[in-house]
Amino acid sequence: MIGLKKDTALLQQEIRELAQLKNAVILAHYYQYPEIQEVADFVGDSLDLSRKAKKAGNDIIVFAGVKFMAETAKILNPEKKVLLPDLAAGCSLADNCPPGEFKKFVDAHPGHTVVTYINCSAEVKAISDIICTSSNAEQIVNRIPADQPIIFAPDANLGRYVIKQTGRQMVLWNGACVVHEAFSIDKLIQLINAHPQARLVAHPESEEHILKIADFTGSTRKMIDYIKTDDGHTYIVATEVGILHQMQKEAPGKTLLAAPSHEDNTCACSECAFMKVNTLEKLYNCLLHEGPEIKIEPELVKKAVLPLEKMLRWS
Ligand code: SF4
Repeated sequence: MIGLKKDTALLQQEIRELAQLKNAVILAHYYQYPEIQEVADFVGDSLDLSRKAKKAGNDIIVFAGVKFMAETAKILNPEKKVLLPDLAAGCSLADNCPPGEFKKFVDAHPGHTVVTYINCSAEVKAISDIICTSSNAEQIVNRIPADQPIIFAPDANLGRYVIKQTGRQMVLWNGACVVHEAFSIDKLIQLINAHPQARLVAHPESEEHILKIADFTGSTRKMIDYIKTDDGHTYIVATEVGILHQMQKEAPGKTLLAAPSHEDNTCACSECAFMKVNTLEKLYNCLLHEGPEIKIEPELVKKAVLPLEKMLRWS
């Protein structure tokens, strides 16, 4: 069976049967391939999926997403087996915030509350005071006393957006997401000119010049909700293109256009190469062999769970 190309529907059916047999829950991020989203028990953004991972009553959690997400599920459920279809599913934001350098950065700013975006390693979580996602970043920062200095890491674009929304000054770690920094403003303006009635919705990981012209800025979940309830018809979506699958399902009457990136001259969309290393075949094999498994030292789990649980309490 392994290594053979199977029909997608058959593979999906076998994945569902295996998940049931092994009492496994499959969580998938909005940026996964549509055929993976379709076979998952839950599809969502980082905050939704953290909550689902925390509540999961299953023996096994299979995380169809990137490594920091599966690590988060493991930190919240240390007694459970957490699987990731491909351990190479990294993230540019997490990779560009090495724990040693981040610790030095934190030590250089004594007395600061460290607010860290969930897109970071377990080690970086362990040296943070509270974790946030793009859904709750403003809410978390607003709950910190006004006279308390803050470090925000690792996404500087999200940090600048939160500064603008909350009016709080924060010290930023200079990280970025390769996908959200790849949007081409020139091509985007051409697309807007070709569709003057379209509304631009953007993820706050996008650069400031994109956010400045956006009609709406929000997390993946908030973008979907905006498009569902807004009275417009056509939307240009500036985030990873995988989200269009769930958006179209929840807003079937709307026309959705992917924001164009610098590189792309074919499909005019931005894909996260890390998210896309997961395939249906790898998901099947991962469930069958119960690996690759996420393993984190218990001492690290004990430290990293504190800022995560604080986030769940605060949001
Ligand atoms: S889209 Fe960006 S932030 Fe999300 S996993 Fe990919 S590289 Fe990381």
